[in-house]
Amino acid sequence: MINKKRVLDEFFALVSIRCSTLDEREMGNLLTARLRELGAAEIHEDNAGEILGGNCGNIVANFKGSVSGVPTVMLTAHMDCVEPCAGIRPQLVDGVIRSDGTTILGADDKAGVVAILETLRCLREQHIPHGDLQIVFTVAEEGGVNGSQNIDQSLLQADVGFTLDTHGHPGMAAFKAPGKNQIEVAVRGKASHAGVDPDAGRNAIIAAGKILAAMPQGRIDEETTCNAGRITGGTATNVVAEFCTINFESRSRDKAKLDALTARMVEIAERTAKEANCTATVTVKKDYDPYELPQDALAIRYLHRAAGALGFPVILEEEGGGSDANFFNAYGIPTTVLGVGMTDCHTKEESLLEEDLYNAAELTLEIVRQAALKS
Ligand SMILES: [Zn+2]
Repeated sequence: MINKKRVLDEFFALVSIRCSTLDEREMGNLLTARLRELGAAEIHEDNAGEILGGNCGNIVANFKGSVSGVPTVMLTAHMDCVEPCAGIRPQLVDGVIRSDGTTILGADDKAGVVAILETLRCLREQHIPHGDLQIVFTVAEEGGVNGSQNIDQSLLQADVGFTLDTHGHPGMAAFKAPGKNQIEVAVRGKASHAGVDPDAGRNAIIAAGKILAAMPQGRIDEETTCNAGRITGGTATNVVAEFCTINFESRSRDKAKLDALTARMVEIAERTAKEANCTATVTVKKDYDPYELPQDALAIRYLHRAAGALGFPVILEEEGGGSDANFFNAYGIPTTVLGVGMTDCHTKEESLLEEDLYNAAELTLEIVRQAALKS
């Protein structure tokens, strides 16, 4: 049984600490202290902060279990928040927690962090049997899932993972999420005076326009999308534009479709630029691969058992976005993403049902308990 007052107090305390992406130091120190108090056998901080230009690394803590011969369970959440996250003043009104309207709330992902801390507290004070546990608090999840991408993989040693970081009431989980590529198209033409000698120039903006017109856009099929998200170029109206750069992304929950769409976008950009007498230098950067957990994966089985024991309905969803779980799956730890109730995240209207905050902790604790049962 969780302690609701403690959960609520902890949530209010943690969201009040500013924790911007790459500026997670204060939160990292506080969580490291909490993990130590809660009896972690080992706590590591990796060098992802240095790699990314931040001030804190990913924190990986190991807890010794009282039950041996059962899978090691990994619980993860990210420390950082989107802006504006300075001076968050959470308020609880009629069972709903919100900010005061001037900031985000930060339930993404402090709701996950708090559920993990409460699970550790309950295991300890109630002497609940459990297997070995690995707790991972990541940095720089927002804006590209860079923390888990750069985590020290040698620290990871779990058999099954749960990333507490999505919308939906506790009981909701993602079993499938897309991979994503970034495609930068740098078009180069030739500059000349637009009034005196326009024919001597080759306009990169016009070529970019033709590329945009030829590109696939938006929803390609039920699991594949692409987008032109940013364009920059030119210098002045009296100069035939020499440069124009367009930044695209492609996503799909099917790796073959993602690869095919990306290749098609590259081909269209290069060919269309050439037809417009310009050149396109296309750079593809893979953000992350898609993953899919089978319905009988250990993570899904534990979720069913835990949610069943608590009477929470299980809803399995396909996600439209990536998360730390994309990388944990790529590193060989089958990981599902659990709903912790965050609603309208990344906006000042972000909210969280008080009940979801408690239920996320209750479900996490029950998952750990179920994972220690030999069956
Ligand atoms: Zn998140």
